[in-house]
Amino acid sequence: MKNISLNKEMSLEEYQNKVKEQLLRHRSILDIITKNQEAAARVNRAVAKAVTSCGCIEIHALKQEIPEDVSLEELADYMSSHLYGSLCPHCASIIKDELGNQLFYIAGLANVLDINLNDVMEQEINRMSTLGKYNLR
Ligand SMILES: [Zn+2]
Repeated sequence: MKNISLNKEMSLEEYQNKVKEQLLRHRSILDIITKNQEAAARVNRAVAKAVTSCGCIEIHALKQEIPEDVSLEELADYMSSHLYGSLCPHCASIIKDELGNQLFYIAGLANVLDINLNDVMEQEINRMSTLGKYNLR
């Protein structure tokens, strides 16, 4: 297989068109949404395996302790990812593969619903810019 080095100018639209060419077997929306769900589970599984099988990352989860008088600007300083360590190259590669697989089905879902992913990203960027730090998603 020929590796394509990502041209930073490649748009989501180009990617979405590539998926359209490739996604022949799973054209039904039912196939796409269930494959997307499976792909999401595989991403989570790969993260869990990085913790439990490899050990390159650890999860130490505790209740988020946030002082009552903290401002929204300071909130990030008190929120933890609960993640310690960093992915080894092997685990990073597996997680990238799984994220890529999920991205494929997200693009496929957008295709069958006639949604442009560039529009989605633009809308999301605008939403984040508007809400800024007050975005408590
Ligand atoms: Zn690892």
